[in-house]
Amino acid sequence: MTPITSHFCLEEFTASATAKAKGIANTPTQQAVVNITALCISVLEPLRKWWGNEVKIGSGYRCKALNQAVGGVYNSQHLTGQAADLCLDGDKQKGLKWFEYIRRNLPFDQLILEHNSNGTYWVHVSFNAQGKNRHQVIDNLLK
Ligand SMILES: [Zn+2]
Repeated sequence: MTPITSHFCLEEFTASATAKAKGIANTPTQQAVVNITALCISVLEPLRKWWGNEVKIGSGYRCKALNQAVGGVYNSQHLTGQAADLCLDGDKQKGLKWFEYIRRNLPFDQLILEHNSNGTYWVHVSFNAQGKNRHQVIDNLLK
């Protein structure tokens, strides 16, 4: 285990069932580790402090091969370690609470309540340690 902040370790951001199945190493670059750390300090640590250890990362860092394998967009912030998807375990209401908490209290670049065609929901949040944070909110529940 490689701790990055008091409640998060690097493996939580690099673990991926798809990477494992396809034999993709998904090793983060040094810059990605810097970005993941900034995301933790600014967004994820405060969220875990508020809600508890139930705040879990479903998808964090994605190397190019992994991002392609999961159908991520070419400029995904997961590629740079700036974004994480938070697992909701089917609890949409929990997702809405986290979404609102982040929106009202924390700095972020992009905050998206996402879902796929199977009805699985997750919260995507990104943080830009190098530049401006746009505070862009996309609520896909409205679609
Ligand atoms: Zn995402």
